[in-house]
Amino acid sequence: MPRHAHRPDLEGGGGVSASGLGDHLHVDTCEFILRSGNTNCAGCGMSLALQLLQRGMGDEPLTLCIPACCGIVTAGAFPTSAYGVPVIATTFASAAAVASGVSTVAQLNGDPGHTAVWAGDGGTYDIGMATLSAAAERNEDVLYFCYDNEVYGNTGGQRSGATPEGAVTSTTPGGKLRPKKDVAAILAAHKVPYVATLSAAHQEDFLRKLETAKGIRGFRFLLIHSPCPVGWKSDPADSVELLRLAVSSGLFPLYEVFDGERYRLNAGPDGTSVEEYFKRQGRFRKGTVDVAHVERAIADRWARLELLEAMCPADVE
Ligand code: SF4
Repeated sequence: MPRHAHRPDLEGGGGVSASGLGDHLHVDTCEFILRSGNTNCAGCGMSLALQLLQRGMGDEPLTLCIPACCGIVTAGAFPTSAYGVPVIATTFASAAAVASGVSTVAQLNGDPGHTAVWAGDGGTYDIGMATLSAAAERNEDVLYFCYDNEVYGNTGGQRSGATPEGAVTSTTPGGKLRPKKDVAAILAAHKVPYVATLSAAHQEDFLRKLETAKGIRGFRFLLIHSPCPVGWKSDPADSVELLRLAVSSGLFPLYEVFDGERYRLNAGPDGTSVEEYFKRQGRFRKGTVDVAHVERAIADRWARLELLEAMCPADVE
């Protein structure tokens, strides 16, 4: 069903009476993917990303497959669902497999629109990696969005494969010792048609990448940096500034990879120190982060990306 189609089962005048839950409750049938009544914390990067997803998708039908993560808690319980599109809640590990099936059935039925996974980093970098890798290898016609908040935000703030080196989490009280897993490189190695990194602090770039992804068939992987004020121990008002600092310091470079081979760099380190980024978050403490070491790793990674772009530039618009 197109997202903007009316749902007679959910409407009655200005909204359906939620019988059994009290006549004062009404289902919100406004046209947003992320509807009012959602349970996200203030300053949640996922909320920002969902609003940009809304703008990028426009009127095109979208079905979301969401594993167990903050993204599925967001929706709340029927009939007060916060999502304005059909959603399938999956187990942590199976989101990409479920999306593969949904997408295949949609194709067989000639249904228009997009099937997408909306998953956190735990369900992507770690628990869901097997089905993600399998769906990517099969080149399923799926849009895979990972909102990367670098922590298991929904289950108590444990470290994930996406947690950066030095970050204090509930399971790394002395700071994480291992570097963040390079999941974009892993997906690019599957030779999928499109891999891109996105930041809500660079909205035009974000929306352009959504447009590019929508115009490609096959498996598309979009990694969205997503502040979690709870896990990052940051001020919710700082979320967009933290996103901006992550890009300008080079901690979260913005780039695209086409067919696993052709690179286009969009934004990376511009001389901004990582120290301001670290200072604004309680998860980075004195003694848990070696700034010089982090800056060397950033420089090495960016130099490698520049080399890849120089050797194999993307010639597509
Ligand atoms: S715990 Fe973090 S990721 Fe989850 S809703 Fe709150 S801010 Fe967002």
